[in-house]
Amino acid sequence: MSKIMAVNAGSSSLKFQLLKMPEEELITSGIVERIGMKKSVFSIKVNGDKIEETTTIPNHGNAVNLLLEKLIEHDIIASYDEIAGVGHRVVHGGDKIADSVVLDEEKIKYLEGIIDLAPLHLGPNLTGIKAFQKVLPMVKHIGVFDTAFHQTMPEEAYLYAVPYDWCKNYKVRKYGFHGTSHKFITERFAEMTNKNVEDVNLIIAHIGNGASICAVKNGKSIDTSMGFTPLEGIPMGTRSGNIDPAVVEYMMKVKKKSVKEILNYLNKQSGYLGVSGLSSDSRDLVEATKKGNHQAKLAIDVQAKRITDYISSYNNYIGGADAIIFTAGIGENAKYTRANIGKRLSGLGVEIDDERNDCRGIEKKISTDNSKIDVYVIPTNEEVMIARDTLSLI
Ligand code: AMP
Repeated sequence: MSKIMAVNAGSSSLKFQLLKMPEEELITSGIVERIGMKKSVFSIKVNGDKIEETTTIPNHGNAVNLLLEKLIEHDIIASYDEIAGVGHRVVHGGDKIADSVVLDEEKIKYLEGIIDLAPLHLGPNLTGIKAFQKVLPMVKHIGVFDTAFHQTMPEEAYLYAVPYDWCKNYKVRKYGFHGTSHKFITERFAEMTNKNVEDVNLIIAHIGNGASICAVKNGKSIDTSMGFTPLEGIPMGTRSGNIDPAVVEYMMKVKKKSVKEILNYLNKQSGYLGVSGLSSDSRDLVEATKKGNHQAKLAIDVQAKRITDYISSYNNYIGGADAIIFTAGIGENAKYTRANIGKRLSGLGVEIDDERNDCRGIEKKISTDNSKIDVYVIPTNEEVMIARDTLSLI
């Protein structure tokens, strides 16, 4: 039995889960928030109860020290030696990292060299990794990358139709994200259906606050909706998804704003929030839709339309999917949204069963027995995927 720590470090937060492996049992989870701000907050689950305290945590190093001390204080571990390895979620692996890797000096150096590809996330990820390596130098640290699963995309799928040297010299191409989730779902579907992963053909709709669709052929990602950054693809909680890039220059002119400000609108003020003018949260929009709010319904419909565009096109690209999978916050929980998408797939012969669709957060087939493509809800678990890869690499 090994205890593996799965870590997700952001600019001012650090989420962690401690898992018992290979049993894949969650021992505890927690989060350090507002690192470097006046009042930092640390919370941890102990025997199912959330314990929260407000304290001062100046940097990620202090956050790591504190969380390890708390594991001992709450009798979750007796000493640091019990932690067999640490798996770090890393947002970007560039075009060289196609799988999870041991984070040695050379890999860290490579990641530092590609920080510009994801400046808001990769910097904080590296800060978290270094802080953990300093406090736990005796164990292996593993990087699990959001982009890695999509490194199997063929050139025709990842290349933008821009001057070829943009890709060759500046690494401008589609990378895709949510790879850890798409990989987890692919493996889980193989397990559920007693198939080899190499025989699995899927369309995965990971719809949460961030959202992406993935085309999986023979167990491998061959296309996905997110691109150079997680802004491309379908509309999300606050992100626009695809727009004509010429809108950027036009809106800069009429609003007298900088590129940065317009991109901020596209990342933070668009999607559900932008169209509804109400909220980025799907629960608020579903509720308002039921009360007759036109813009809330429109926000859900604009997204549903784009999701079904991707699903239809990916179904063709993979030559016919075994199944369509809904996952993440909205995919797992929002039956209204799933039904709304299902209705729009009638051209593919998809039929959602209302009664089966009346579920939340569980693994379930939600299509009718007549549906030409099976549709499932499968809860994703990125932390388990991180812990699996970490275990196999230590
Ligand atoms: P995630 O980013 O995967 O955590 O997903 C967050 C999204 O899931 C938010 O938009 C939530 O409103 C949505 N969500 C969670 N539970 C429900 C629910 N019961 N019904 C509708 N949406 C939900």
